[in-house]
Amino acid sequence: MNSAPSEPLYQLRQVSKVYNGRQTLAVDGLEIARGEVLALVGPSGAGKSTLLRLLNFLEEPTAGTIRFDGQSYSAGQGVPLRARRRVTTVFQRPVLLQRTVEANVAYGLRLRGGRQTADLAQRVARTLEEVGLTAMARAPARTLSGGEAQRVALARAMVLAPDALLLDEPTANLDPYNVGLIEQIVQRLNREQGATIVLVTHNVFQAHRLATRVALLLEGRIVEVAGAERFFTRPQDPRTAAFVRGDMVY
Ligand code: ADP
Repeated sequence: MNSAPSEPLYQLRQVSKVYNGRQTLAVDGLEIARGEVLALVGPSGAGKSTLLRLLNFLEEPTAGTIRFDGQSYSAGQGVPLRARRRVTTVFQRPVLLQRTVEANVAYGLRLRGGRQTADLAQRVARTLEEVGLTAMARAPARTLSGGEAQRVALARAMVLAPDALLLDEPTANLDPYNVGLIEQIVQRLNREQGATIVLVTHNVFQAHRLATRVALLLEGRIVEVAGAERFFTRPQDPRTAAFVRGDMVY
């Protein structure tokens, strides 16, 4: 069932989303390669989170087709649960269970893992190590700082080894130290495990630090998508240039 590794993980064609009669998103075409970090930037209300929800198959597009790992899903077919299970989103504000750190990380794995739970404890321990929370494994999640809680949320997503990890403003509420830690984890995940990552961020500096490619969304449309270097130094569209300069008010 899996497609050739050279085929992009995602291919979107004429994908749109309408809420209450208003078109929120209209993506004519977008490909996301395996193993890339794609940053989605743009002002608030541009449709970035809506696009992430479609990429996670949490909602259906109003029209169009999303091809994911060699299989096409078209509007009107219902949300494909099989595809949804292979993608995970980390949101801006983590919602943790009132249990220990390790129980939080194990929870999703247990839900998705079915019979493959034999090595669960080991996988949880390894993932906690990757996010630097081994010492807090038995701590109640409610005692964590915001940065630690976000690292638990990241660990909870990572332990599932998703085909795509979607990050929706994952560091928006954090102090610089924790922003740095989260960025290091994301970079390692991408470089060492080849994870495909889509990152929504307001922060162009963060996009610069992490992304392979950057896409600017404005009013639901992709204005420009380019390699990070070109996006920041030689943008083709004047609106991208304005955004990169910080001239765009949002
Ligand atoms: P961004 O993430 O770029 O800030 P969003 O994707 O959250 O943008 O929102 C884009 C637009 O779609 C906004 O105008 C928002 O109010 C609207 N929108 C998003 N989700 C819904 C929804 N579930 N119902 C109605 N309108 C929505």
